[in-house]
Amino acid sequence: MRDLSAHFSRSELQCRCCGRLQIDSRLLDGLEKLRAQAGTPVVIHAGYRCPEHNAAVGGVPHSEHTLGLAADIALPGLSLQRMYELALEVPQFAQGGIGVYDGGFLHVDVREHRARWARVSGQYVGVAALVREPELVATADAEHAQESKSAQDSQGGSKNSEDLFLL
Ligand SMILES: [Zn+2]
Ligand SMILES: [Zn+2]
Repeated sequence: MRDLSAHFSRSELQCRCCGRLQIDSRLLDGLEKLRAQAGTPVVIHAGYRCPEHNAAVGGVPHSEHTLGLAADIALPGLSLQRMYELALEVPQFAQGGIGVYDGGFLHVDVREHRARWARVSGQYVGVAALVREPELVATADAEHAQESKSAQDSQGGSKNSEDLFLL
C-alpha cells in the first residue's frame, strides 16, 4: 500500500513545481484498474498541475490536470496501440478522455464526456493517426499482418520533453 492507493503515491501525482496535490478518486481507481489489466507498473509522467505550472508548460487553460482529473502515463515495454487498448478496458477512461502522444505515452482523464485525440509532432490530430480502434485491429491484422507490423515498428519515439505534456 502506498500513500494514495495500493500502487500509487503522492510523490508520483503531485505538482512537479510545488508539490500541491488535488486528485479525483475516480482517477486513482482507473489507474489501479489499468495497472491490474496491464500486469505492469504504470509510470506517471504528470498528474496534478497547479495553474501556474500548467501555464508554464503550455497546458491548455482549465486542463484536466489542473482539476486532478488527469494523468500522463506510460506502460514500459508496451506499444502505444497496446497501451491504448488497455486504457479502453478501463471504464473510467473509456468514458472520459484518452490522448495518444507520439512521445510514447498516453493522457488519461475522467472528464464527464468521451474525448479522443493524438498529438503528433506538436499537432493535435485524430487518434487514428497513432492507433486503431481495437475492433478494427483483429480484421486488419488478419488481412495485413505485415503492414500492421511495420506501422507498430514506426511508433514509440523517445521524445519525452515536457513541452509535449500539454493536455
Ligand atoms: Zn505547482
Ligand atoms: Zn495530459
